[in-house]
Amino acid sequence: MKKLLIDLDLYTEYKDKDLGCSYFYHSDNKGVRSLLELATYAIVCRKCELEACVTSCPNEALEKRDDKILERYNMRCTSCKSCSHACPFGVIYTEMMTYLMPRCDLCLDKLMDGEEPACIKGSAEGVLMYGDFKEDEAKKIYAVSDNILVKAERWERNGVKSK
Ligand code: SF4
Ligand code: SF4
Repeated sequence: MKKLLIDLDLYTEYKDKDLGCSYFYHSDNKGVRSLLELATYAIVCRKCELEACVTSCPNEALEKRDDKILERYNMRCTSCKSCSHACPFGVIYTEMMTYLMPRCDLCLDKLMDGEEPACIKGSAEGVLMYGDFKEDEAKKIYAVSDNILVKAERWERNGVKSK
């Protein structure tokens, strides 16, 4: 099954200014930012025991789940970016914490027509790819959902992986 692969390091370099998105509920949607948030919490967040990001939030919009992965509640988040500034490791990109929550539906309509997701077209080479990719630890490629893979440096503490 084909999957979307995001290279987090390249994304940081090129950002998403030229990426399109077919999601129709709001025209400024950059669905890839929701994927970036998913990937960041799962792979590069240090899973702090005293989470500065959570305690800095004035709206209790960030919580750590039982599996230690952060979750943001968009009905409470006001996009103040306090969490971005509070994180001592700088893993929460400010552009990720949008007020209007971006959504990615993987361009299901396009996939059904045999096309690629819209964001692939505007992506600088290697930032976003769509194809027969698989989880591969040696290549630093990790699955964050059934259809999304992330290439990133995964953080580990004393041999304990962050995912
Ligand atoms: S950006 Fe959202 S989650 Fe982060 S501190 Fe502000 S309200 Fe909380
Ligand atoms: S986002 Fe930053 S402060 Fe929050 S748990 Fe992750 S590494 Fe720690």
